[in-house]
Amino acid sequence: MDTPKEINSVYWNSKKKLWEYEIVPVEEYHGSVDCQYCNKPMSHNIKTKGEFKVVYVKCGCSRTS
Ligand SMILES: [Zn+2]
Repeated sequence: MDTPKEINSVYWNSKKKLWEYEIVPVEEYHGSVDCQYCNKPMSHNIKTKGEFKVVYVKCGCSRTS
């Protein structure tokens, strides 16, 4: 599996009440967690800007607005 250089992460903007995307640069990649329904990654464990983080992405079945 290729290690992504950056991840298009998604987060809930509670002020605007919508999902927003942010490109997060990946310094170290430590694997992902797959959605149990569609088997696509729904979060990634990475190191970015010197910090370990879990970033969320939209998996195949989370297409809610
Ligand atoms: Zn899914």
